[in-house]
Amino acid sequence: MKAFVNKEDCIGCGLCPSICPDIFKMDDDGLAIAEDIEIPEDILDEAKEAAESCPTDAITVDNM
Ligand code: SF4
Repeated sequence: MKAFVNKEDCIGCGLCPSICPDIFKMDDDGLAIAEDIEIPEDILDEAKEAAESCPTDAITVDNM
């Protein structure tokens, strides 16, 4: 599973890195980005929680 942030939808609220900092970071433009890595099993729940908590549904966690 990988995470992806659609920057078109991100409003830069900072929630996703606060929930799952190993996968989500705030980019220089103030919007979130996701690490382009296979999400480790032990933080998969965190990554999914971040996706579910995103106010604009900008995050996808899926097999990509
Ligand atoms: S939670 Fe959603 S809107 Fe907030 S920074 Fe992350 S991707 Fe952007």
